[in-house]
Amino acid sequence: MKIICDWNNCNKIGEFRAPIEKDNSKEYRLLCKKHIIEFNKNWNYFANMNDEQISEFIKSDMTWHKPTQNFSAQDNFFKILWNNTLKENLEELNDKHKINGMGQYNYTNEDIRAFNILNLNRYSSWLSVREKFKKLVKKYHPDKNSGDKKYEEKLKIITLAYTQLKRAFKK
Ligand SMILES: [Zn+2]
Repeated sequence: MKIICDWNNCNKIGEFRAPIEKDNSKEYRLLCKKHIIEFNKNWNYFANMNDEQISEFIKSDMTWHKPTQNFSAQDNFFKILWNNTLKENLEELNDKHKINGMGQYNYTNEDIRAFNILNLNRYSSWLSVREKFKKLVKKYHPDKNSGDKKYEEKLKIITLAYTQLKRAFKK
């Protein structure tokens, strides 16, 4: 019996173990070589979410301006998300965290990972999170990279991390 890679839509043979994060558990999923490399590189909890869960995660926290497009196409969904995120009003967020960050605030593991994905430390202020996000969007935007899927995937993870932190700062 051959075990198929557990990555979304992959049908290669899964021969590498990728740990599933649960407290005190030794569970794992099997991935092909390409996807174990991807898993290790972009290790984050979003990898275990399907597209629908990711959409719900974001939609539940997004102020949609005028969603006129069909979100069935994931690419469209994320393009709209990036654009809306960049247009978002800073005023919606908690004033006291804008400049100083939250310091000793008790972040969740997901928040800490989101900081790591953006290559920031947990003492970063909301403004610096936002500046970093804008910088990364410019760097990885598909329009600037001939529509390369690799960059789209990277940008998706960055956008999700940003959304995670926005939630943390709103609390
Ligand atoms: Zn695979």
